[in-house]
Amino acid sequence: MEVYNFSAGPAMLPKEVMENAKEEFCDFMGTGCGVMELSHRGPQFMEVLATAKQNTRDLMNISDDYEICFIQGGASMQFAMIPMNLLPAGGIADYADSGTWSAKAIQEAERFGKVNIIGSSKSTNYDRIPLVRHWKPSENAAYLHITSNNTIAGTQYHTFPPVPAGVPMIADMSSDFMSRVIDVNDFGMLYGGAQKNLGPSGMALVIIRKDLAERTPDTVPAMLRYKTYISKDSMFNTPPTFAIYMYKQVTEWMKNKGGLAVIEEINNTKSEAIYELLDRSGFYRSPVEPGSRSKMNVVFRLPSEELEAKFIKEAAQNGMSGLKGHRSVGGVRASIYNAMPLAGVEALIDFMIEFEKKNG
Ligand SMILES: *Cc1c(COP(=O)(O)O)cnc(C)c1O
Repeated sequence: MEVYNFSAGPAMLPKEVMENAKEEFCDFMGTGCGVMELSHRGPQFMEVLATAKQNTRDLMNISDDYEICFIQGGASMQFAMIPMNLLPAGGIADYADSGTWSAKAIQEAERFGKVNIIGSSKSTNYDRIPLVRHWKPSENAAYLHITSNNTIAGTQYHTFPPVPAGVPMIADMSSDFMSRVIDVNDFGMLYGGAQKNLGPSGMALVIIRKDLAERTPDTVPAMLRYKTYISKDSMFNTPPTFAIYMYKQVTEWMKNKGGLAVIEEINNTKSEAIYELLDRSGFYRSPVEPGSRSKMNVVFRLPSEELEAKFIKEAAQNGMSGLKGHRSVGGVRASIYNAMPLAGVEALIDFMIEFEKKNG
């Protein structure tokens, strides 16, 4: 049976990528060694790294003002690295609080300096993106931090907030990185854990405007300085070579698909199909304010928790796994990142219609 994995992360990777990685696992490009066994300074891996970076530049149209870094520790490490490097002593950083992950980023920043919560949707259980026109920016914020897609609550920014001149916007894009066309020049830095849309867990992709890396205080250790990753091409120490190799494969797959504009169209089609069903059904219900709905993580409720448990169990028996909502909010969550084919979404919709017929 074909299995469609709707897990929020680590999440499914494109089938073609998995097959190709399998082929190359023990013998990478005729070397007789797997890519994991090769020196990170040897020509084969250097080529992998260069291609991974070039693919990123091509896909997102990134200028030379920015550097692309691969940093271990996932997105959570970035929650700390950002204020360590970019929030000067006595400075203030603006953070939008749109969900669990924003809250974690805020918690880390508060260790280093003053945080101004510029807007929050906590009082409505994070059912929306905080209304931008109510935001109150600080004077001279070191940066503004947002979470572009809220993996747990199922919300997403459809447009990005305006920022005062000179304030770099930093976005945690862990769960919607490269899922749509964006203008990188609107941001000072973009980052995300790779395991949602880009590859294996444990590594963050960081795209940072190079001038920002000059702000880091001298007390920050080498491994936690952006400048180290920029000046050493992410190879100050041994980088996560297998994760970078997989990321290279995934970005190649994206290019072969036709790039982010094509991928965005497919993502729109997939998410709209599910939301359309939720809206016309009296059985399923979206808890998310319509203007804030995520195209990556579609969360929904059934009439009771018993029915939700039954739905998740029967879906798994029918080849659709990973549909359980995050333990902090319950319900059902269909994570439909780039790698989820339209056929997987169609299978889910067919199952939902059948389930409603039997249990509605
Ligand atoms: C998954 C996720 C994280 C955490 O990523 P790790 O790599 O596990 O640290 C942070 N932010 C968002 C939006 C996420 O979805």
